[in-house]
Order: sequence, then C-alpha cells, then structure tokens
Amino acid sequence: MKARRLYFLFAILMVAAFLITSCSQETDSQGPRKGEKLKIYTTIYPLYDFAAKIAGEKGLVEKVVPAGVEVHDFEPSPKLVAGIYDADVFVYLGGSIDPWAEKMAGQLSKEGVTVVKAGESLFVEEPDEEGSDDHSDSHVWLDPVLAKAMAGRIAEALAEKDEENASYYRENLKKLENRLDDLDQEYSKALLQAPKKDFIVNHAAFGYLAKRYNLNQIAISGLSSQQEPSPRKLAELSELCREKGIKYIMVEASSSSKLANVLAREVGAKVLILHPLENLSEEDMRAGKDYFALMMENLENLKKALNE
Ligand SMILES: [Zn+2]
Repeated sequence: MKARRLYFLFAILMVAAFLITSCSQETDSQGPRKGEKLKIYTTIYPLYDFAAKIAGEKGLVEKVVPAGVEVHDFEPSPKLVAGIYDADVFVYLGGSIDPWAEKMAGQLSKEGVTVVKAGESLFVEEPDEEGSDDHSDSHVWLDPVLAKAMAGRIAEALAEKDEENASYYRENLKKLENRLDDLDQEYSKALLQAPKKDFIVNHAAFGYLAKRYNLNQIAISGLSSQQEPSPRKLAELSELCREKGIKYIMVEASSSSKLANVLAREVGAKVLILHPLENLSEEDMRAGKDYFALMMENLENLKKALNE
C-alpha cells in the first residue's frame, strides 16, 4: 500500500518536472532564462565590438567570421549555421559583405531569434563602374556617424529582447555614442582642412569615410599586399602619384613589406596601413585592439598621407 502511494507521488513529480521544463523552453524565444546571459551572434568585427560594448556583462557575444579570415569570401559551415539558431539575437550588416546572413535572416526570425540588419538603409547604391571589382562598397562602419546608427539598432534589439536589462543596454549605448561623436570630431578636425584630398588604397573600403570628410579615395584593384605588382600596374601608380603629388599608398595588411619595397623602389611612394576593420588578425586580437584603437591608427596614417 505504502509503496503504491510512493509510486503515485513519484509519477506526479515526474509530470510536474516535465511541465516545468517545457514551460521554460517555451519562454526561451522571449529572451534569456533567469540568470543566463543574452546570447548574441554577430557577423563582422565592428558589429561584434559594438555588441560587446553594449551588452557588457549581461551578454555573451560571438563573432561568426573567425579572426584572420577574408570576410568577402566567407561562407559559414553547417555547424556554424546551427549555432546561430541557438542565439537570442543575430546581428548582421546587410549589403555585399555578409550576403549569407541575409539569406538566413527570414528563417531565424521565424524560429524566434531577434534579427538586426545593422546597415539597413545606410548603403548608397552606386552605379557599377567599368572595371570595378566584384563587391560594391558596404563599409559603412568606417564613417563614425553611420557607425552610431548601427550601434543604436543593436542596443534597441538587446533592450527589446531582454527588457529587464534595457536601461543597462541604453546606458552603454550612450557611452558608445559619445565615443563615436568624439571620434567624428577628431576626424573632422584633422581631415577637413588637410591640404591633399586624394589617397590611394588597394581595397575600396573607404568610400563612406572619404565622403564624410570630403576626401577622394582612389582604389587600385589587383594590388594585393601578398603579390608583386605587375610592371603595368607600377607604371600606372607612378603616373598617378606624380600627377597628384601623392607620397603614400595605403594598404590593408601589415604583412606588406614585399609590396612596400617594390613600390618604394619603382614608384617612389611609401606604404601606410589603412585598416578596413571588417575583420581583425590574430595579432590585432592579441594586442587587444578594438574599433576605436584601429580608427585612431587609421587617422594618424591618413593625416600623414594627406599632409606630406
Ligand atoms: Zn572590405
């Protein structure tokens, strides 16, 4: 008799336990469970950095594109894709930089993931230039004013998903916005009055930055920092530098000593780094660099290129 009663009690407990688990699973799509951090997946580096600064200690932020990988050619593995479905919030840019994310966005929303297209309506549609390379310029984060709009969208999504900590996210956003305003001031002060307006780059990533500060980006396709440039390319570059009085050519990678040597010898120009920030190298990561550190390094090199 006693044993039967115990068995009955046990059965009730099992049913209760089942109900409790299934309930908490159901609330899962409404945000993080009590005591758990908000899980945020981002595609490219600036989104990761902004999300981490806004989420602070309340969130776990992951970057889908690994350090050191060429962002424009990246496609996530099925395993990575499955991981993204576990997120509370997924942040991507849109435009030509993470087209694979755009393809996932609809399905993720249906599964209860809050999806943020941080670059929405910030892109300028440019007519295809003849001979321009495959991807149009979607590097909006290199303009601090547009970066601020991106940050605001990320913060709103976090606040909506995790209402309990909404004011915390909005305070962190305020701090981030102030820093972006300061950065914009620094850029304006240094670049709007620069005597030269033209700068040469090997990666056409700086169109939005150039537009904001009244500069002119000259992008040379087919100039990889890993390869030796062709004689034709060198002749073209020498001509351009002479014509515009340009003394520096700006490349994206720091591993460009070979290119630097060739250009110095043949063109009489020096090489400076202009970081597109779409991804960080392992080296950048280890050095603890972030969006602001790299943007200030870029500014120092732009000042050099435009003043000398
Ligand atoms: Zn790029």
